[in-house]
Amino acid sequence: MDDESIVRKGIRIIGIWTIKAFDTIRLKSSEIPMLIHELVEGLKHSRRVFLKIEYSKHNTTKNALAKCVKVSILLCYRDESIFFSSSAMHSLLLYNIGHLATPQSQEDTPQHRNKTYRLSGAAMGNIHTDQNVALLIENGTITRIGDSATLEREVRADKRFDAKGMTALPGFVDSHTHTIFGGNRANEFAMRSAGRTYQDIAAAGGGILSTMNATRSATHEELLAIGRKRLDAMLRHGTTTVEIKSGYGLDTASDLKILEVIQELAQTHPMTIVPTFLGAHAFPPEFREKRDQYIELVCQEMLPMVKERGLAVFCDIFCEQNYFSVEQSEHILNTARELGFALKLHADQLSASGASELGVRLGAVSVDHLECTTASGIRAIASSATIATALPGASLFLNHPYPPVRDIINAGAAVALATDFNPGSSMTFSMPMMMTLAATQMRMTPEEALTASTLNGAAALCLAHERGSLEVGKRADILLSEVSHFYEVSYHFGMNHIVHVIKDGKVIV
Ligand SMILES: [Zn+2]
Repeated sequence: MDDESIVRKGIRIIGIWTIKAFDTIRLKSSEIPMLIHELVEGLKHSRRVFLKIEYSKHNTTKNALAKCVKVSILLCYRDESIFFSSSAMHSLLLYNIGHLATPQSQEDTPQHRNKTYRLSGAAMGNIHTDQNVALLIENGTITRIGDSATLEREVRADKRFDAKGMTALPGFVDSHTHTIFGGNRANEFAMRSAGRTYQDIAAAGGGILSTMNATRSATHEELLAIGRKRLDAMLRHGTTTVEIKSGYGLDTASDLKILEVIQELAQTHPMTIVPTFLGAHAFPPEFREKRDQYIELVCQEMLPMVKERGLAVFCDIFCEQNYFSVEQSEHILNTARELGFALKLHADQLSASGASELGVRLGAVSVDHLECTTASGIRAIASSATIATALPGASLFLNHPYPPVRDIINAGAAVALATDFNPGSSMTFSMPMMMTLAATQMRMTPEEALTASTLNGAAALCLAHERGSLEVGKRADILLSEVSHFYEVSYHFGMNHIVHVIKDGKVIV
């Protein structure tokens, strides 16, 4: 199996260590398998580590005992510092890029230095473009960007990849999705199209309850297979980092099952995946008459278990009339914050509930939806480090108003775009489609839409220091498209313009 085929199987290589047996110990050739066995045994306890053993038989000295053992350690985890530091270097020269477009990080206000790199207000429109560029990528990180002819001449790399004059963009960061669920609601889509009401659909067993039932009855393996297929499709559409929420289980075991599926995907799929606990997505039917008890279940049982098992970074909530009130949301989010979760909110989607203001008050990383946010909500967001995440797919699909993004940017806030991929209100993986809706329905410029889909999306996941833009020091998550200018990605809509996806320095699509 060569490196590329391993990557295609969803395992990411971040280092190869070569151990020359004769450097430190003299081994008989018969002992080498034992050495390898011990290495494997020592490492395989962690599900994060995979080993590929290459066993070279060449004699490297006249001494017949001296054998060279090459041990390749394949580490499936975002943070490569967790297990090893490697001196081995893998380099890729991506050359002949015709056009490059990227937002550029800037340090935020001093109090957020080294925490968030996001672009706010007018700065969202600052897209850096360049022509005839090459990027040198070492161990998955961009280490040099410059004139293609110069780098082709000066740089020695293990591999070279010809971009054939294509346009390079940062990988899209979809910072709000509900990717893991059983079944789908195509029937409801047809019923709604035929004029049936939400009440009709609910009476026919539809709505969130149908997804909850399908998700509860699906096994871990079934959800894993569904999730992997969906992530593969997202990747082909240019999404290289995704946030995934639980929230279709609505009981402890089922929501933990979803988070365990997300965790396994994070460890085995090349995409960067950020898990969010959304136990407070809706009240399950068994708690409809005793809502306070469900809130206590979330606070006393679910959140501590999710924390203890390290299954989520964020805690999210659906703060809305008839779902979780501002007071109930505050109680749950405060509990989550005390446990060390970062916070997100589904805010002001169906009514102006004050959820945006609550999110800002609690220091949420993002408040999402905002279709009904008022001037006071906009002022609160703009005066904070909280990111406003617009989800125009839900407005399109439900024929609801779009969030007042123009006003939010003009007030000086940072806006991110995400798909809200879910079976009920936004059945799409396409970040370019969100960029089209941003430009046509929310009066965003294509420049702002690109920033919102990449760097600010990464900031909404606290990853903007390492992802979301094509800059020296950032991870190499790069899209190559045959469009001649990045405007065409949103202008020519309903198309997938992505030809190649480079993820952490590996060409995987
Ligand atoms: Zn959502």
